[in-house]
Amino acid sequence: MNARPGKLVVLSGPSGAGKTSVCKALKRHPQVEFSVSATTRAPRPGEVDGVDYRFLTPAEFERRAAAGEFLEWATYNSRSYGTPRWPMDAALAAGRVFLLEIEVKGTRQLRQQGQDGLYLFIAPPSIPELRARLRRRAANAAEDIEARVKIAEEEIAAAHERLGGRPLYDHIVLNEDLEATIRRVEELIGL
Ligand code: 5GP
Repeated sequence: MNARPGKLVVLSGPSGAGKTSVCKALKRHPQVEFSVSATTRAPRPGEVDGVDYRFLTPAEFERRAAAGEFLEWATYNSRSYGTPRWPMDAALAAGRVFLLEIEVKGTRQLRQQGQDGLYLFIAPPSIPELRARLRRRAANAAEDIEARVKIAEEEIAAAHERLGGRPLYDHIVLNEDLEATIRRVEELIGL
């Protein structure tokens, strides 16, 4: 199952830690392919269906989950998010770097499945800084910001956990400076 020429990279980190900015920077590497997750949350302004996410109704998401179409899926802030199974197999068989941007519960599922890969966690410098970043990202309403901060605190605690005798994440990268974080992530992936 793990004899695949490509490389799976799992990137997690609380909402507002800078994960999406890191992913945007990685798009300049043609060998990197991004997983497009399915979600039941509403699109943010500027998000395009099929590019940023596949936006699904809860019924359609449930149908796909029951049919085993997701490699992993989890609930985050009362919405469902899942990784379609087949694009990863194709990308890894073709020798590409396949990048999943997912939260911690989904990451645990991949570790439990024994998915070989590089597991990275991008951490914010502090909770007040995280809250400030979420506020600057006007897309999140006030109550949504506090819900995300609460989840962030749980995720930061989980970043250090061990699963089956090994760390859940191979590296925790503290994002104090975006350019430095991008360089570190590129170096870890081997880009
Ligand atoms: P957002 O709503 O900010 O786009 O994403 C919320 C959280 O869901 C983020 O931590 C993001 O990484 C995570 N996420 C996005 N897609 C998936 C997925 O397919 N599976 C899992 N488990 N988490 C996801």
